[in-house]
Amino acid sequence: MKVDVDFAICESNGLCAGAAPAVFDLDEDDNLHVLNDRVTPDNEDQVHEAVRQCPRRAISLTD
Ligand code: SF4
Repeated sequence: MKVDVDFAICESNGLCAGAAPAVFDLDEDDNLHVLNDRVTPDNEDQVHEAVRQCPRRAISLTD
């Protein structure tokens, strides 16, 4: 599975980076970066938590 962020609706609040810091990073200019877009057994719990916490529903997981 792959992580996809809809940057058009992301509000750069960093909640996903807090939930999954190995996958999402918010830089000092409040720009969100996807560091690793692959969902693996190592990060899947954190990624699902990031999806759950995103208030904009901007994160989707695709096959
Ligand atoms: S939690 Fe959602 S709205 Fe917030 S930075 Fe992440 S993708 Fe953007």
